Amino acid sequence: MTYILLAETESRALAYNTQLNGTEYAIPETAFIVADSYRKMKGELLEFIRAGGQPHYACFCGLPTTYKSCHGSQLRENINSITSKLQRLSGNPG
Ligand SMILES: [Zn+2]
Repeated sequence: MTYILLAETESRALAYNTQLNGTEYAIPETAFIVADSYRKMKGELLEFIRAGGQPHYACFCGLPTTYKSCHGSQLRENINSITSKLQRLSGNPG
């Protein structure tokens, strides 16, 4: 299910968060950007679904195309590519 894929990608990026001391955390900027964009996409998808969105409806991002051929297209491939780039840039989560 798409929503779970997005949530998993967000938490994989958030795993790069490391605790500096009692109250401060640091996260590599790339990991933060990935986590943030998947968090936003998750919210937009949820709104889309709640509003009765279907794969052949206009995509939530506003581009003049359907969800199926826009954000819904090749989602798993895009996630695999983004998470392996993140791993190349930031190593494994610490
Ligand atoms: Zn889209």
